[in-house]
Amino acid sequence: MSDTVPTPSDPLMFCSFCGKNRDQVRWLISGGNVYLCNDCLDACNEIAAERNREDLIAEWRKQIVTALEGANLPPLLFDNLRKLIEVTSLAK
Ligand SMILES: [Zn+2]
Repeated sequence: MSDTVPTPSDPLMFCSFCGKNRDQVRWLISGGNVYLCNDCLDACNEIAAERNREDLIAEWRKQIVTALEGANLPPLLFDNLRKLIEVTSLAK
């Protein structure tokens, strides 16, 4: 191990993302010469879950529009449903 890479016994070992040292977090995992703490991993998982949820909702919207297009609805009803889907996709 090189002199620049902290070891598990190094009191200066800290998360490469948030900078907290090992005494400020539950655990740190090593990825070569970088470290990740449990707090940052939780934050990454939340971001990934939110993006997956947004992708799923976007796919549902596409499927609904496709189904509406094939449903031979009265034009006014179709237009209003389509506008409603667009409005909800803009809402955050
Ligand atoms: Zn961290």
